[in-house]
Amino acid sequence: MTSFPCHGRIDGPIVMIGFGSIGRGTLPLIERHFEYDAKKVFVIEPNLDDHTFLSQRGIHHVEMALTRENYRDVLGRLFAEGKGFCVNLSVDTSSLDIMKCCRELGVLYIDTVVEPWAGFYFDTEDNSKRTNYALRQAVRDEKARNPGGPTAVSCCGANPGMVSWFVKEALMTLAADTGRTDPMPKDRHGWARMMQSLGVKGIHIAERDTQKSTRQKKIGTFVNTWSVEGFISEGFQPAELGWGTHETWMPEDAQGHEAGCQAAIWISRPGAMTRVHTWCPTPGPQFGFLVTHNEAISISDYFTVGEGANPEYRPTCHYAYHPCDDAVLSLHETFGSGKIQQVQHILDENEITGGIDELGVLLYGHEKNALWFGSRLSIEETRDLAPFQNATGLQVSSAVLAGMVWALENPNAGIVETDEMDHVRCLEIQRPYLGPVEAHYTDWTPISERWTQFEEDIDEADPWQFKNVLAS
Ligand code: NAD
Repeated sequence: MTSFPCHGRIDGPIVMIGFGSIGRGTLPLIERHFEYDAKKVFVIEPNLDDHTFLSQRGIHHVEMALTRENYRDVLGRLFAEGKGFCVNLSVDTSSLDIMKCCRELGVLYIDTVVEPWAGFYFDTEDNSKRTNYALRQAVRDEKARNPGGPTAVSCCGANPGMVSWFVKEALMTLAADTGRTDPMPKDRHGWARMMQSLGVKGIHIAERDTQKSTRQKKIGTFVNTWSVEGFISEGFQPAELGWGTHETWMPEDAQGHEAGCQAAIWISRPGAMTRVHTWCPTPGPQFGFLVTHNEAISISDYFTVGEGANPEYRPTCHYAYHPCDDAVLSLHETFGSGKIQQVQHILDENEITGGIDELGVLLYGHEKNALWFGSRLSIEETRDLAPFQNATGLQVSSAVLAGMVWALENPNAGIVETDEMDHVRCLEIQRPYLGPVEAHYTDWTPISERWTQFEEDIDEADPWQFKNVLAS
């Protein structure tokens, strides 16, 4: 990109909460694509090592941690004008509380995850309360209690976020490739009916991150390509997935939910210790981790025909994540030792020597078997496209950019998830930052190319049963 389009004007302050790997990547995109008053940019960050970026631009650094006790005061002061944009890219702050506060103040809001206050992930004893289902449902309940009003975009990163837009693109691709001429659906019900009529049984959010550095991971260090704290938190939540109507078998240690949309189940074991058989274009068949994510529930919920625990149609949906090799090794060490490593390290764009983040949606069970649709962004292309981030980071920060543009263009849409936004407009903004965005069909199924030396209880009649996807 040689010149950068201006996507709109932000009136009032811009307050970024958290300036970690995603915050550092997002701020330069905000700089590039919006008009705003440069004197009114604030970054709330308790642990800033390097002040260069902020001080060079005259950005105010608010050196503190937001807490349950201070967030209303702090945000009330920063947004005293009753307008502006709050971009929440932190860990350990409650997305729901901050979102509610921003809406009361008349301020636009965006985040990339439904994050709870510090302590939630490890101190909550009841595992069903530690699920993303519980976190998401609290946001959905708030939306139902207070519809409309200032826009607050919930969970608009790469995943959750961009992948919801990919699901719709993939459906349109599949429709065209199977000879259909459906117009693009206009509402949730239309999309759900389209997915049902295309025979999609489920969706993996199928990701392979091959980014690497030449430095060997040391014992006692957790290495990742984005928030180590965020990944450990979600990896230790129970495995969770949107539960489709085609499933005939359920793991013995799985449970549903009594209240809410009832689109998901959780399994009584950590997601980052739960492996699934999945597929991405680069490796072909691979193991992924069934780490819980908001989109697993929101996509299953959005594409439901009917409602409640026994709808007419619902796709299965879950994350199937192969993080970078160092993160796989780090998890192995964490679970094996029973301890979280003292040293945490996020691989940055300067030390990464190669690799791509291949992140897409694998729609399966239909007449063409399976379609992977996604971004295959390399570190080299990332360096050319935007500063201060690796490929994983750019897939996230460019989704935040797209979500901010959509919010500015739809300032009174209330609380929304990315499934509820205009995916065409959002991808139009984001796509220049995604590298190759490709569709790949495969004839692989979870029961093809399996080891046969040991007997396994698999369902040969229906290859796409979750029973076959879950690794024993
Ligand atoms: P990071 O760990 O690099 O940075 C988080 C920052 O939050 C840190 O700098 C930390 O000091 C700051 N922070 C901690 N407590 C705070 C508090 N109380 N108040 C203000 N700031 C506080 O994480 P990251 O990689 O930048 O990720 C940021 C967020 O984005 C995380 O919640 C992560 O889970 C999420 N994320 C979402 C996606 C997606 O695709 N949806 C992808 C990556 C990350």
